[in-house]
Amino acid sequence: MPPGALHSDGESGKGTCIFQGQYIIVLLCCFEKCWFHEYPGMCCSYYSAAMTKDDYKTLENIVGKSHVTWETADLLCYSYDGTRQSFMPEAVVFPANAQEVSEILQFANTAGIPVFPRGAGSGLTGGSLPTSGGIVLSTERMNQILRIDTENLVAVVEPAVVTGVFQKSVEKLGLFYPPDPASLAFSSLGGNVAENAGGPRCVKYGTTKDYILGLEVVTPTGDIITTGGQTMKGVVGYDLTKLICGSEGTLGIVTKIIIRLLPLPEARKTMLAMFHSIQGAAKAVSTIISNKIIPSCLEFIDKYTLEDPGGRRRNMEGAPDDFSCAAQDQP
Ligand SMILES: Cc1cc2nc3c(=O)[nH]c(=O)nc-3n(C[C@H](O)[C@H](O)[C@H](O)COP(=O)(O)OP(=O)(O)OC[C@H]3O[C@@H](n4cnc5c(N)ncnc54)[C@H](O)[C@@H]3O)c2cc1C
Repeated sequence: MPPGALHSDGESGKGTCIFQGQYIIVLLCCFEKCWFHEYPGMCCSYYSAAMTKDDYKTLENIVGKSHVTWETADLLCYSYDGTRQSFMPEAVVFPANAQEVSEILQFANTAGIPVFPRGAGSGLTGGSLPTSGGIVLSTERMNQILRIDTENLVAVVEPAVVTGVFQKSVEKLGLFYPPDPASLAFSSLGGNVAENAGGPRCVKYGTTKDYILGLEVVTPTGDIITTGGQTMKGVVGYDLTKLICGSEGTLGIVTKIIIRLLPLPEARKTMLAMFHSIQGAAKAVSTIISNKIIPSCLEFIDKYTLEDPGGRRRNMEGAPDDFSCAAQDQP
């Protein structure tokens, strides 16, 4: 598909339109662009212009021809996330490093084109959706584990490393990365940072932000900054690392992550207890914690969840009809 063909005004470019009120509308579009300059950001709900051939050419010059696409089939693949909503981008770009990310953001900021960072697209908040067109910036080429430092229990990774792959890599070395979003088999560490993701183990271990020591981030204006460091003690200055964790891609694009690791727990036990009532199960949870036992996760499962779609119970023969159930896993 040629650049611009997505839009009803074809390749006519930004701020143009094809009926009599032409000049008024051109002025409005200019105003939008000025507004964007005043408040540089990576997405702009006021953007309504179409990308031009020159815009696509500029992106190609930054990342190489094969790392930018505006084919409809490709755009569709990057138009949705875990929310199952869909918004078509005008281009998808695949930078290889922070320098290329920086050049893309500088260009987009000057041209007034919104940019939407994207990891694996499994998010449930809609943050990677190109709600106003523009550019989806996929981190997927930045997918290397750069270093696992077994002496200092620190790792340095690029943002598109899959969480589960990273966990397995450190476990082979006797180390442990606790955050366990249920999407860990496919979500990216960059996406986990941007969403401050956490799974059942956060009862004991906390969420992603508790394991991020430092970041390399490209700001919306294209500056490459680093936050935090590689040591547990980092007391000086504003805590920009924590600010960026959970910011859903609105403050910058994470291009490198410094991660704190723990020793791999030597043993892990899972227990299952069944209760006649929800109140009984809830009381057991507070009793466990008030006895200073912090399980890595505590899951409450109701009887309907334990039944399969056909209504038969799995491994629960003899259980009373109205049971609830708490399971605990304690490494
Ligand atoms: C089946 C399923 C189970 C899930 N379970 C959990 C769970 O247990 N706990 C939980 O917390 N979440 C869960 N999620 C939500 C989702 O997986 C997480 O939010 C995950 O962290 C998103 O990672 P991603 O790589 O898919 O990011 P994306 O969906 O691509 O992006 C998510 C947000 O992060 C931003 N972003 C992505 N990469 C970067 C980057 N490098 N720099 C800056 N911003 C960036 C995007 O702009 C967007 O705002 C689940 C989702 C699914 C589909």
